[in-house]
Amino acid sequence: LKTFKESNEKMKLGIMGGTFNPIHNAHLATAEFIRDKYGLDKVVFIPTGDPPHKRNILDKKHRFNMVVMSTLKNDDFFVSDYEIASKGETNYTVDTLRYIGQTYPNEEIYFITGSDAVNQMESWKEFQENFKRAKFIAAIRPGIDLLETQENIERYRKDYSANIDMVYVPSLEISSTYIRSRVKSGKSIKYLVPGRVEEYIRKYNLYGGASR
Ligand code: ATP
Ligand code: MG
Repeated sequence: LKTFKESNEKMKLGIMGGTFNPIHNAHLATAEFIRDKYGLDKVVFIPTGDPPHKRNILDKKHRFNMVVMSTLKNDDFFVSDYEIASKGETNYTVDTLRYIGQTYPNEEIYFITGSDAVNQMESWKEFQENFKRAKFIAAIRPGIDLLETQENIERYRKDYSANIDMVYVPSLEISSTYIRSRVKSGKSIKYLVPGRVEEYIRKYNLYGGASR
């Protein structure tokens, strides 16, 4: 049973951004593991809009639908259409964090990413502003240089007073790229994505999979 927190204790809100092309079990397991570890009250998944530079990306409606059907039965997981509904051509994390800050002024924001994102953060628009607006939790991702990630994190803390943690999660070597390539070559994606996502991909013949 969820009760109201003491008035001086802020609600903790996790944010999980991504293209989710498609959402897979590592996204879900990572979000849940970090929600539990940090005592987050909820996690909001925010699929990106269709970026103009990524030509072959699946339509945002399909990506959004698959995120919704994957999170529907989890009371701690929510989905926001903020980025897919936005008129702008590109979604920047800083704009989303501003919006979140305005919408939830009393919540503590935890931005969840994989460790691959950590090594790119300085190229993000107004990246220093991001560090002021959220704590960052980076899940160690297989195949990403751990030392490089560690060094970057140290530097972000020192140079930008970033509040950023790196955490071990039960590692799952799943990526959307891998899912797409398996679908394309007619291989099974069962247990790599939620059952409903697997059905949805088959139903709409997504990712160039041969219909079975
Ligand atoms: P793609 O292969 O198309 O880039 P992806 O699997 O990396 O897809 P994204 O939508 O790009 O998925 O990622 C959304 C967020 O989830 C990012 O912060 C990413 O680092 C994180 N993430 C994705 N897969 C994993 C994983 N296996 N373990 C931990 N974090 C992950
Ligand atoms: Mg990715």
